Amino acid sequence: MKADIHPNYKEATVTCACGNTFTTGSVKDELRVEICSECHPFFTGRQKFVERGGRVEKFKKKYNMD
Ligand SMILES: [Zn+2]
Repeated sequence: MKADIHPNYKEATVTCACGNTFTTGSVKDELRVEICSECHPFFTGRQKFVERGGRVEKFKKKYNMD
């Protein structure tokens, strides 16, 4: 007899829409998500804000670099 407390709980490979993959505990072998910690705005918000150019444009205006 196996001493496994959660026989159906195993490591699943999660594939995100952004291409990132990671593993998590799940009853499924494979999971697909549309957002993960690598691309979620909550974690990347500042980065995306910079990418949109807002901060750079303000910086350029402030120092007349445009
Ligand atoms: Zn992602």
